[in-house]
Amino acid sequence: MMRKILLCALFLSFCFGAVGENRVWQKGYTFLKFLEDYHIPLKLYYNLPAEDKELTAEIYAGVEYQTLKDKNGKLLQALIPVGEDIQIQIYEENSTYKLTFTPIKYFQKSQTLALEVLNSPYQDIFKQSKDLSLANEFLNTYKNSINFKREVMKGDKLALLYVRKYRFGEFFGTPTIGASMIETSKKPNFLISYNDGRYYNLAGKEITGFLLRMPLSNVYITSKFSQARKHPVLKQVVRPHFGIDLRAKIGTPIKSAGSGRVVSAGNKGGYGKAIEIAHEGGLKTLYAHLSSIDKKIKVGSYVKQGQNIGKSGNTGISSGPHLHFGLYKNNRPINPLGSIKTTRSELKGKEKEKFLQFAKEQKQLLEDELNKLTAQNTSEQTQSTLTQNPPLEESK
Ligand SMILES: [Zn+2]
Repeated sequence: MMRKILLCALFLSFCFGAVGENRVWQKGYTFLKFLEDYHIPLKLYYNLPAEDKELTAEIYAGVEYQTLKDKNGKLLQALIPVGEDIQIQIYEENSTYKLTFTPIKYFQKSQTLALEVLNSPYQDIFKQSKDLSLANEFLNTYKNSINFKREVMKGDKLALLYVRKYRFGEFFGTPTIGASMIETSKKPNFLISYNDGRYYNLAGKEITGFLLRMPLSNVYITSKFSQARKHPVLKQVVRPHFGIDLRAKIGTPIKSAGSGRVVSAGNKGGYGKAIEIAHEGGLKTLYAHLSSIDKKIKVGSYVKQGQNIGKSGNTGISSGPHLHFGLYKNNRPINPLGSIKTTRSELKGKEKEKFLQFAKEQKQLLEDELNKLTAQNTSEQTQSTLTQNPPLEESK
């Protein structure tokens, strides 16, 4: 009897000793609220260096995070992603909570896809890859050059080379399309990604995607954009800077970088008074450390490119008056300078030569995929012909 109870107790402690949970960060939830909910002293946040405070404001609604609690509900560890590359790790050590940033481990794979359009490029890509963000990404890249509904016919082919991230065996983040081709009435249209993710045709001419303008009239960059990376020597995570800092005296008018809809306006943790605007193509811009927000700017309101949205300031965690300008693609921070309107639309000289060679290789890879597709279709047809005409012996 005693043994049974002991076994049972052991079993229970095994089950309830520590509870791991997968949770979703809700809209409007803040890092400070999170600390409160888990009874973690708020000084953990207040004692962080300024850049780290900014990063905690980068946790976005809808992201999945993990918590590990003991049987009394006390938090032992939490892992909260900021962007696709790093996560905040909170853990308890000697009865005090600590916070560090650690890289998110994922597995990356170069992949190809080729198909013949039966319904629509979007539906067919999804059907074949089961990857919704890939289908969206493909649409985005051709957004301003091809009208899929009008120009793509049934039987047109498409092919793409892309890099996919996986985490715990599942799709993670947004795929990066390196090169793609889609036929419009059997005529091929190639797009090659080059130079900071801009897309060019085979002749080296930039295919205009969605372009933004700078949110200020006088642009002077004081801090550049950087992704999280591992320090090659120290092996530590180097803090990323998810945007660019622009010099701006308090009260400088801030303009919307593009047309779109306001998704948030108000306090955003370390970013102070901030505005977020969603644009087409899964893009979102962030304007932070503002001194004031224009009265017309409310969640859901529509803004035009260049419209005044507020005034720059020094609110939140800021080392001095400036505008922090962030750009996100499907919630992933990207370099705003890569999407800013420039006069250069065609590659020239040495750069063009380099591109043309690169484009040739990419084109060949895409064509190889399409040839495989044709070979496959032919063999399928042969097979079905065979089944329709049974071997002679049987028909006797
Ligand atoms: Zn900044």
